[in-house]
Amino acid sequence: MNVYDSARMADVLRPLGYGPVERPEDADMIILNTCHIRERAAEKVFSELGRLRKIREAREIDGRSTIIAVAGCVAQAEGEVILARAPYVDLVLGPQTYHRLPEMVARAARAGGAVIDTDFPVEQKFDFLPEAAAPQTAGNLTAFLTIQEGCDKFCSFCVVPYTRGAETSRPVASVLAEARRMVASGVREITLLGQNVNAYHGDDGNGGSATLAGLAADLAAIPGLDRIRYMTSHPRDVDQSLIDAHQDNAALMPFLHLPVQSGSDKILKAMNRGHTSDEYRETVRRLREVRPDLALSSDFIVGHPGESEEDFEATMQLIRDIGFAMAYSFKYSPRPGTPAAGQPLQVAEDIKDRRLAEMQALLREQQDAFNADMVGTTQDILITGKGRKPGQLSGRSPYLQPVHFEGPETLIGSIVKVAITERLTNSLGGTLIRETAPAC
Ligand code: SAH
Ligand code: SF4
Repeated sequence: MNVYDSARMADVLRPLGYGPVERPEDADMIILNTCHIRERAAEKVFSELGRLRKIREAREIDGRSTIIAVAGCVAQAEGEVILARAPYVDLVLGPQTYHRLPEMVARAARAGGAVIDTDFPVEQKFDFLPEAAAPQTAGNLTAFLTIQEGCDKFCSFCVVPYTRGAETSRPVASVLAEARRMVASGVREITLLGQNVNAYHGDDGNGGSATLAGLAADLAAIPGLDRIRYMTSHPRDVDQSLIDAHQDNAALMPFLHLPVQSGSDKILKAMNRGHTSDEYRETVRRLREVRPDLALSSDFIVGHPGESEEDFEATMQLIRDIGFAMAYSFKYSPRPGTPAAGQPLQVAEDIKDRRLAEMQALLREQQDAFNADMVGTTQDILITGKGRKPGQLSGRSPYLQPVHFEGPETLIGSIVKVAITERLTNSLGGTLIRETAPAC
């Protein structure tokens, strides 16, 4: 979501004359768009700020000024701390106030001191943002689109409800308008974003609210939009309409990120996740029933307070039972202000290290097996550009695997059938299947 937000900040600043530059040394304004989810991410901000300060000093010697801004969730949670630790920062703004950037820049210029805006405003920033410029990713063929933000679930370990704020959904009409503009600029695959994207309940324009399944159906009707993904979804919000959508909506890719965090019911309860490990298994079973080629990815936390060896083993068993195509796994990181951070039964660092290593070995094995199983299959590949070698094309499979194969550049932007022939280190190799034109 920070990638999407950064692009929108660029949209807001464009009318003021700002455009992208290659190196921070050439920038009149530098915005660090930050993440507060784990301690390491937050600490990075301060080391990065030290580096930017040196750049600003070097530019000053040449008579050039530089605005340094900190945006995102670290700014939201630690705005005052940032100004105390790095007093040379000019602007501090949270994830819900970046539509006010032009006003903040003007205020900083007038006042000559730091400006901080970490409100949760009553207005929705989306109502104030200019139209998004064409996306800059994967040859402009794929794009992110935020449809929902914030969270009301308050998991024990997580800062998101405090930094992104309460759960809100964008109206259907606003999402469809942005998607149509993206498609008109060449996009063929859109990933819908939200902290709890399947809690989506945007205004449907008829006095009601739409579901994610309903929105995905409207999006699939846009000519030229061939692929739809969504992340991150919560197991509690996978309802029957979403399961049906995976059967009925051909544009929905059969690859679902569905974080479970733990396989132990005791820990799931302590985490306030609102479901058991068997309920997760059942949700996955129902999804696979309607979409047998569905692959799953997930997030896991090891070492949540109170996690015993037995709890950890329950998570390993869940991983063995489900089988994941890929996954993100993290050591529990105590976050200021969250309930888990103050709990007494913190797990020792060396135990977290060992559990994480064991889990990652198992997940790596499953990912390798998933990729190896692709060899011998035929996949629909969205060709996003040229490959590294001459004559080669590169694209992505429904499962987001990079795939390389030989073919003419004229095919870039289309979806073709590719026979997967080999598994490379971080990608797959294949052969283009030429579709013979029907005889007339
Ligand atoms: N809304 C999504 C997750 C958003 S946060 C969900 O509920 O599934 C992204 C991931 O960061 C989480 O899934 C979790 O695995 C990880 N994470 C969040 N807080 C963390 C913490 N304090 N320590 C370690 N990992 C954390
Ligand atoms: Fe954080 Fe996700 Fe839990 Fe919300 S549902 S509190 S975003 S982990």
